[in-house]
Amino acid sequence: MPQMLVNEQSVLFDEGQTVLQAAAAAGIVIPTLCHHPDLGDIGSCRICLVEIEGSEHLVPACKHPASAGLRIQTQSLATVAARSMVLNLLVSQGGFSSPSPDGGSDFRPRTEFEQLLHEYQIAPPEGSMARYPVDSDPSPFLHIDLNQCILCSRCIRACSEVQGRFVWGLASRGHESHLVAGADQTLDKAGCEGCGACAAYCPTGAIQDRLAVGLPSVDRKVTTTCAYCAVGCQFDLNVIDDRVVQVTSQPAAPVNGMHLCVKGRYGFDYIHHPDRITRPRVRQEILEGRPRLPGQPRGPWVEVDWDTALGLVAERMVSIHRESGPNSLGFFSSAKCTNEENYLVQKIARQVFGTHNIDHCARLCHASTVAGLGMALGSGAMSNSLDDLADEAAVYFVIGSNTTEQHPVFGSMLRQAVHQRGAKLIVADPRRIDLVDWATLHLQHRPGTDIPLLNGLMHLILKNGWQDEEFIAQRCENFEAVRDSLAAYTPERVAALTGLSIADLEATARLLGTQRPAAVIWAMGITQHITGVMNVLALANLQLMLGNFGRPGSGVNPLRGQNNVQGACDMGALPNLFPGYQSVTDTQVRAAFAKAWAVGQTPLEFPECAGHTLTEMIDRAGTRQLRSLFIVGENPVLTDPHSAHVRAALGAAEWVVLQEIFPSATAEYADVLLPGTTFAERDGTFTNTERRVQLVRQAIPPVGESRPDWQILSELGRRCLNLQGRTATGPAARYDYTKAADILEELRHLTPPYAGITPARLERGDRLQWPVRDELSPGTPILHCETFPRGRGRFHPVEHLEPHELPDLDYPLLLTTGRVLYHWHAGEMTHRSQGLHAACPVALVEVSLEDARRLGIQSGDPIEVESRRGRISAQASVGDRVAEGVIFANFHFAVPQNANELTHCTLDSIAKIPEYKVTAVRIVRSGE
Ligand code: SF4
Repeated sequence: MPQMLVNEQSVLFDEGQTVLQAAAAAGIVIPTLCHHPDLGDIGSCRICLVEIEGSEHLVPACKHPASAGLRIQTQSLATVAARSMVLNLLVSQGGFSSPSPDGGSDFRPRTEFEQLLHEYQIAPPEGSMARYPVDSDPSPFLHIDLNQCILCSRCIRACSEVQGRFVWGLASRGHESHLVAGADQTLDKAGCEGCGACAAYCPTGAIQDRLAVGLPSVDRKVTTTCAYCAVGCQFDLNVIDDRVVQVTSQPAAPVNGMHLCVKGRYGFDYIHHPDRITRPRVRQEILEGRPRLPGQPRGPWVEVDWDTALGLVAERMVSIHRESGPNSLGFFSSAKCTNEENYLVQKIARQVFGTHNIDHCARLCHASTVAGLGMALGSGAMSNSLDDLADEAAVYFVIGSNTTEQHPVFGSMLRQAVHQRGAKLIVADPRRIDLVDWATLHLQHRPGTDIPLLNGLMHLILKNGWQDEEFIAQRCENFEAVRDSLAAYTPERVAALTGLSIADLEATARLLGTQRPAAVIWAMGITQHITGVMNVLALANLQLMLGNFGRPGSGVNPLRGQNNVQGACDMGALPNLFPGYQSVTDTQVRAAFAKAWAVGQTPLEFPECAGHTLTEMIDRAGTRQLRSLFIVGENPVLTDPHSAHVRAALGAAEWVVLQEIFPSATAEYADVLLPGTTFAERDGTFTNTERRVQLVRQAIPPVGESRPDWQILSELGRRCLNLQGRTATGPAARYDYTKAADILEELRHLTPPYAGITPARLERGDRLQWPVRDELSPGTPILHCETFPRGRGRFHPVEHLEPHELPDLDYPLLLTTGRVLYHWHAGEMTHRSQGLHAACPVALVEVSLEDARRLGIQSGDPIEVESRRGRISAQASVGDRVAEGVIFANFHFAVPQNANELTHCTLDSIAKIPEYKVTAVRIVRSGE
């Protein structure tokens, strides 16, 4: 390794490193301002000047290449004088945020720039005048004060290089030069999404988080994992007086580094919202011992203590079980809760009540992925890692995933891959989503025609001989059946079914057929159809045919929705699987859990077939076949299809217990409300979409009398067993956990992919993606390298099937539904985060220019949308995001704006997932 001398210290370096990088690696600090290790260097601020023996001038260390034999001084008189001069110049121009009233130098450094001023003893100029208005932009997320800007351009580079946007730029020259958004517009008009990268990288405070302006020093920072989407970003919660006051970047975060999206960075203030449920609540008639008859409305809430609430819940559930048997109880677990909590919900369902009636919202998002990939490969999980996809894929085929809005940080990685290394991007989506701006090809196919599209592409791949014969022969089976079935999917037929041109089909097939590795990425645009499983099988067929498995940048990559939906599935919060995807129909598996969870003298017995799914349990609660429904952190009234049906069913239900943080729309139909906590108030683990298990750390005490969900569940399990008169005898049968880590320690012994994931390994920072077979295993970033879990990858022929409800004369428009950037799920958290709510306060329905013209509608007009099941009001957003005949609505708003008033309950026959993506509707102008 070559070496040089820095401050008389020998420094080894790699070829290609700069002086700054080599010195930093050797622990020698050279001050910087415009430089940041995440960003491209421009070498403009001249703070990192160093002296090189034999050189006439000082040189910027960030731009000068390290080379053998250099003798460098970083703190010579000349360098210090030069830096002082630069700092004097900069401070006369701005950068100083808190001058003391007399203009003196008595200040406390708060920013990188102020720290340098302090070190070099530079005082701000006396009587400095503001040149720009303070707080010059109405952004709900960012506070702008250009008087503090030193034109280092870190914000400009962060926006373009990290976020893949180009919002910030410079205007004017010389002394007049200043930062502008877009063409000197507001941030919103310039296309800012509010990710806050500019504020995170700003060294002076010219751009700051609005909620953090003027905050005193924080008491502590706690690193934890985001509770919105399944990208699994980590960050620091900043705490003052036991309140979370700011989210700041944690540079060591495995997935995201410094980067965050708008929800992760600014959607935290719901934690302290006054709507939080802080004491248990019970309906008055229950406290008075009056049973509610079918059809009777529920009475008023009465706040009670925990002992009363949990005593009532345990007694009622145990007595229903005694009277009507295991199948009379059902449990909804939660993809927002930790692995430990999901494990406990299914443990209570199975061990205490002997039922597999346990499910969660994966039923509504990726149940078809789990089933389809299970059939094709033997594992329903994402095969690759977010970073290998970002770094290595030659082609991305993104189908049915609005990645930049639903998985924003990964969406930014895709933009970077296209922009910075020229990767090709194919977007197949009925909407002109933001990612289309970066795509080589946009396939705007008709909703519900994914199978013809995929079969048509495979038809062309085979016709041109682009399949990977060797991979098919060595690692797959049943290829011939698929090859035969594809013959009918000629380009002409596929073009007619999908609405695409033959030229686009051919170009797509060529790109996929000739470039490797290609990664297929999908989300609910693929899964939420009555053909959801078949759609997934078609994607598996495509990747098997191309041999795109087992290496970086390839694979099948379903992007899971909620923060811990992967973990909830892993933990067996499913009616057909114990933890670790062990089938309930397997005799040996049932025997192993019966032994581990043994209670009392009688051996535990579990049903030999699967329990009821989430949608089935709602139906059965409505008819009182299911007498008790225990719901943790779900809001089916807003998130399940056909809301009127859900309301009617829950209204008629006998006994509903809801564990929640806010009085949600579903709380109206609950008999008991148990106040759980947010992610900031509890410990545990989440598993992100790429199977990475990460710590969630408690930053503040529970708000009010709320309790971490794992504590509530432990206490409930303990009480129920006591009431049943059963004593824990098995090694994993008890509920006497003193901390969340005790539960992880228990579950890992029963969940093979988690066997090597110990609390200690996570605490010391091991980066673990399951399967982690033992405590020495480093985990598995890429699946299916040598073989598939089922042995050979199996091809499955799949045929096109029309969606259940297509437009007709009465309902001539096709509604497709989804999410928007600023909200999450039913909006319980995001509507209570002031910046997010301000950015998106009303439900918008996207309408095409053609349909708007025909209906006489303009953007901003109030409209009503009707289906055969209900009506919603919304605001029209007219543009080219949807094709003629298609409209798009989201489900983040309460009645009467929620799109699930319109959707129907028809299910995929295998995965039982509803067809949210295709509903026939009509638009009427409000009041008509
Ligand atoms: Fe959180 Fe997802 Fe945003 Fe990351 S991308 S900050 S995990 S919402």
